Formats: sequence, structure tokens, C-alpha cells
Amino acid sequence: MLLAHETELSQASYYEASVVRPAASAAQAGRSTTGVCVIGAGLAGLSAALELAARGYRVTVLEARQVGWGASGRNGGQAIVGYASDAAIEAQLPAADARRAWELTVEGLRLLRERIATHAIDCDFKAGFLSLAVNRSKGRALAGWIQHLQHAYGYPLQAIPAAEMRQWIASERFHSAAFDPNSGHLHPLKYCLGLAAAARAAGVVIHENSPVTQLLRGAKPVVATAHGEVVCDFVVLAGNVYLNEFGHAIAPELSARIMPVGTYIVATDPMGEARANALIPSRAAACDTNFVLDYFRLSADHRLLFGGGVSYSGATPRNLAAGMRQRMLRVFPQLADLALSHTWGGFVDITLNRAPDFGRLDGNLYYLQGFSGHGLVLTGMAGKLVAETIAGQAERFDLLARIKHRPFPGGALMRMPALVLGMLYYRLRDIL
Ligand SMILES: Cc1cc2nc3c(=O)[nH]c(=O)nc-3n(C[C@H](O)[C@H](O)[C@H](O)COP(=O)(O)OP(=O)(O)OC[C@H]3O[C@@H](n4cnc5c(N)ncnc54)[C@H](O)[C@@H]3O)c2cc1C
Repeated sequence: MLLAHETELSQASYYEASVVRPAASAAQAGRSTTGVCVIGAGLAGLSAALELAARGYRVTVLEARQVGWGASGRNGGQAIVGYASDAAIEAQLPAADARRAWELTVEGLRLLRERIATHAIDCDFKAGFLSLAVNRSKGRALAGWIQHLQHAYGYPLQAIPAAEMRQWIASERFHSAAFDPNSGHLHPLKYCLGLAAAARAAGVVIHENSPVTQLLRGAKPVVATAHGEVVCDFVVLAGNVYLNEFGHAIAPELSARIMPVGTYIVATDPMGEARANALIPSRAAACDTNFVLDYFRLSADHRLLFGGGVSYSGATPRNLAAGMRQRMLRVFPQLADLALSHTWGGFVDITLNRAPDFGRLDGNLYYLQGFSGHGLVLTGMAGKLVAETIAGQAERFDLLARIKHRPFPGGALMRMPALVLGMLYYRLRDIL
């Protein structure tokens, strides 16, 4: 069901149109052995592979389609500090641990910049991120959040009052904002392909077009594909919402705790440097603070990449491009003359409380999921933490693995309708 339109949505992206992929790597075949088998060549799997290789492990990555085919190669490119819900983490962890959890995301941003520099990944990174409040009451909430981050985590954000908004963004839609010079944005597929190249250079074997169809658990797990199997000591499950969609369920116990929520992006034709600079003078990434949010940024070739619009049913919305254009023009009516060049989307793996869901099964299987739309930075740390754990230092991984998650209500059949109802409530709250 999830896979119905996925390849179309992936192929249609501006990102795919603006990279030259290396030739596809050979599909897995025959019987091989390795130290760690990673399932999924998105940012989480590749980050784990790179970090494990750096610690001396033999690593094989099995990817059903292509490197970055999933969310990692299609996302909004917003590299943001923090979690989708800091409140969920603060509700479960003592204050000192919540602070350590926050600091992991600050380290994640540093890690991202370091990797770009160390591996010379040309991915158009640009620093700066704006959180935008659409009205006075959201503005008050945003001001409270700025204070909270300063007070609880010592993390400073610049408050932008209503009177100064036009210096930051050429839109009447927003009341006030917060600016974070530390977060930023990048071309996610270029970054993902860069990580894959770095992993290969470090000795990691990546097999594309190799869906894992079965996982036999045990002291020496066996990971099966259509044409062979990999025997290993550890498995890292980094398949996002797709993990159980190819062949047999790989880890069915993980599915109920994440829900695939579709989100979509359009790219405009290039508008020229001067016009782009006038639209968002800092060229920061931007995102409003609504529950069903709009997020946007300028590309290096001066397009607006505008994301938003969600689907909770797993189906691609009808008239997607027209609907997204309407959303974009609500923010920037002055772009009415620009055509849309690309429309695409993918699934975000949300958890019920929007905190990440990391953990282990059977002692030698680790899973990384539930990034809840905040994966660009957090996947990097997820890979680092799982590598630390396999190498014997589980403390930082366990900090996040301690966070408890409830399954989505309604079981396999009813959880989509239940989510739709729940989300309608939040959408109404945004409108009201
Ligand atoms: C449209 C969109 C916009 C987003 N915008 C942002 C943003 O601006 N900022 C942000 O921080 N986050 C954003 N996100 C979320 C972010 O992209 C994800 O959290 C992150 O990329 C997840 O990485 P991943 O490696 O876990 O999953 P993925 O990138 O989805 O990778 C999983 C891979 O595993 C493979 N796989 C799955 N099952 C199997 C199997 N059985 N056998 C072999 N391979 C398998 C899949 O083919 C896939 O390539 C967005 C997501 C979407 C979809």
C-alpha cells in the first residue's frame, strides 16, 4: 500500500533532477558474512555505517531501491536543532537528562557540518533558520519557547518582533519570528549521496536494489534478500516506514509505534538571485509553528522549495501541485507568475508523542525510527549513537532509548482513520 506511488514521488523531485547519481551498485547475491548488516541506505543507515566503519567494523548496507530513495533524498532540507516535540522528552526525562538529549541535537548539527567539511560534500549548505508565528497568539507561544530554550538549555534564539518582520521575509502572513543562526538547510540528496560515498571510501559495502525479505534472528542473524543472504553479528534496522513493506515483515513489532504521514514539496522555476534575496534576505530556511505546517527555503539556483500539505491516509492528495501552489501563494502571492517545475513528496515516520523511537530487540538488533519530521540532523546522531552502543558505549543511545512510546490506537486497520480524526482536531486548532 505504502509503496504504490513512492517511486513516482521520488523520481519527480527537484533533488533527483539536480544530481548525477553514480552507477547503481550490485544487488546482493550469494552468501556473505559481515560484522554489522544495516537495512536501509537513508541518512540513518548511512550514518550508522560510516560511524561503525570508523570504529573498525565490517559493514554491509542493504537498500531496497537506491541510496536516498526514501525520505532522506526527498525532504525539505531543513537541518534544525531540537526534536519534533521537546515537551514529550521533558515529560519523560529528568531535567538534566532532557538537557543532555537537547545537547545531542546541537552535537548533531555540528556533526553534519563536520561531515560536509571532512568528506567535502558539495550539498549547498546554508546556515540560518526562521521559526514563523502566523498570528499574535502563536507569536506569544513562540516568545515563550525562545525563553524556554534559553532557560532550560542555554540555547539562544534571536526574537524578531512584528515591526521587523519585513526585513526578514517578504510576506504579510507572519506576525513574528525566531532566528537560529546555527540551524540551516541543504540539498538532502546531495548530502545523502555524499555520505554514501564517504561510507564506501571507509570500506562499507552498499548493495542497492536489494530488498530485505526476511530476517532470521539469533546469535548470528541472517538477513535474506531475493538472491542471497548476509550472516552477521549485529543488525541495524533503518528502513523507516518501509521496513516491513518488502516481502516478509522484518520487525513487525515496530510498525505500530510509527505512522506514515505524507508531506509534499513543490519547486518553482528559478526566479533569479535578486528576486530570491528580496523574498528571504537572510536566505534562511523557514517553517511556521502551526501543527500542520508550511516549510520553505531557497535553493542554490534561486528557486523557492515550498513544503506542506499532509496526507494521513497513505494516499497522495488529488490535484497535489495545484493545492501546493495555493498554499505557497497564500504566503507569497507575488510569486503568481512563476511556474512550478517539480512536485514530489514522501512519508514522515511520526510517533504518537513525536519523540524519536530508538532501541534494541534481542540484544543484537538495533532500530532507529520515529524521527517525526526532524530527521535530517537527528539521523546523523542516531547513527553515531548506535555505533557507540555496538562498540560498547550504550549510555547516550540509552538516554533516548529510555523514552517510552505507545502504539497508535486502533491496530493495523483503524490507526489511519483514528489518526485522521486526531489530526483534524489539530488542523481546526491551527485555523481557529
Ligand atoms: C517530504 C519530506 C520532507 C521532510 N522534511 C524534513 C526537513 O526539512 N527536515 C528534517 O529534519 N526532516 C525532514 N523530513 C524527515 C526526514 O527526511 C527523515 O526523518 C529522514 O530522512 C529519515 O531517514 P531514514 O534513513 O530513517 O529513512 P529513509 O531515508 O526513508 O531511508 C530508509 C531506506 O530504507 C530502505 N528500506 C526500507 N525497508 C527496507 C528493506 N526491507 N530492505 C532494504 N531496504 C529497505 C528504503 O528503501 C529507504 O531507502 C522530511 C521527510 C519528508 C518525506
